[in-house]
Amino acid sequence: GFIPALGGTDGSRSWFERAQHSLAGGISSSSRLTSTGPHPYPLYMASGSGARITDVDGNEYIDYLISYGSAVLGHASPLLTEALTQVLHSGTMFGTCNVPEVELAELICQMVPCAELVRFANSGSEAVQGAVRAARGYTGRSAILKFEGHYHGWSDTLAISNRPSAAQAGPYATPHPVPHSPGIPTGVIDDVVVCPWNDPTALRDVLDGHPNLAAVICEPIVANNACTMPDPDYLDLLREECTARDLVLIFDEVCTGFRTGPGGAQNLFGVLPDIAVFSKALGGGLPIAAFAGRRAVMEPLARGEVKHGGTYNASPLCATAALVTLRQLNDTTVTKRIDEAGQRLMETVRRAAHDNRVPCAVQGVGAMFQVVFSSDGAPTRGYRDLLSADSGRYDAFRHELLKRGVHSNAYAMACWFVPAVVSEDDLSATCQAVEGAFAALR
Ligand code: PMP
Repeated sequence: GFIPALGGTDGSRSWFERAQHSLAGGISSSSRLTSTGPHPYPLYMASGSGARITDVDGNEYIDYLISYGSAVLGHASPLLTEALTQVLHSGTMFGTCNVPEVELAELICQMVPCAELVRFANSGSEAVQGAVRAARGYTGRSAILKFEGHYHGWSDTLAISNRPSAAQAGPYATPHPVPHSPGIPTGVIDDVVVCPWNDPTALRDVLDGHPNLAAVICEPIVANNACTMPDPDYLDLLREECTARDLVLIFDEVCTGFRTGPGGAQNLFGVLPDIAVFSKALGGGLPIAAFAGRRAVMEPLARGEVKHGGTYNASPLCATAALVTLRQLNDTTVTKRIDEAGQRLMETVRRAAHDNRVPCAVQGVGAMFQVVFSSDGAPTRGYRDLLSADSGRYDAFRHELLKRGVHSNAYAMACWFVPAVVSEDDLSATCQAVEGAFAALR
């Protein structure tokens, strides 16, 4: 069943009806169809300021989608607005080399432990493809190992087994490679090997069985699996196995990058990938992405043998937005504030769930976390655990929050992102909304 429409959102309803006639499906990204959960129409957002966002009907929400973590400095950040206004007056894009891209690459090399050379792109999907191209070019091999449930964008190679149904997914230890969509060529799956997450034995077996691998790619904290955390030592094991087998280890830090501290997840866990991919928080709300890695692995690209292009790559507009954003996030007092705000929300959810006897796991780190309605309240360790969680209850929880003015990710398998600008008022209002939502769920 559909959850009834939110009261006072008739404007969104009529824009969605109108959009059906011109936009394919009324939307611009498949994930927006359910951007309010199992709701008859998505909300149309009109403006934002700081941690707050306002829809076309004038309803205001405290925003923990925050453009999927991108608008990390908050909406309409005065810092960004000022810097970008200058760029608007001096030219946004030349399709040439420019100064801010150099300064930005230098800053990334300074902040990110694995980064010796950087390339820019415009979206996470593109930057992941660049990283995979670099890994294939460097090794001369073509197969990629990815983990079931991890999301690396919508490209043909990577949109495999990111959200298979229980019926499609195949045996636990040797999952089937399941294309996410019609239109993905069948040949793609010959070069994609799928493995369950957090299982050392399954990993070694899959690696032993596939000598043609070029790379292993993962989300170190699985933002797209409700912030499933790596078991202690699991990322170290990935590093050891990749080193021993001469495989390129790619961390997709599109969600974790610059958010879980200036050095991202690789710094948090102390494990160095060969290449890391960044987007979202990097641009502070403008479209920019990067892949950055060890000199040797990036060298064929640097020499121009491995090709990668893009008209819009590192435009002055987006590179400037990223410079302003990273100069903020390079200050650990800023990332600590984000984390502490998130920790407080996580604690509030745990307490409200306990008081109302609603079993759930609250998992992740403060800067990004999710509430999972698993039947025993245990945290998830892999994708199959999420398949058996109660996503209907998550939908109801989210709807209760929306009614109370809190906007969060529509997907039970995704997560909350905390903006740097969340205020004491925002936090206490959110905690109240969480308590009200759990009382309603009881
Ligand atoms: N990797 C991860 C971990 C992501 O979460 C996403 C987007 N949600 C992507 C890659 C793809 O990024 P984009 O949507 O910018 O193409």
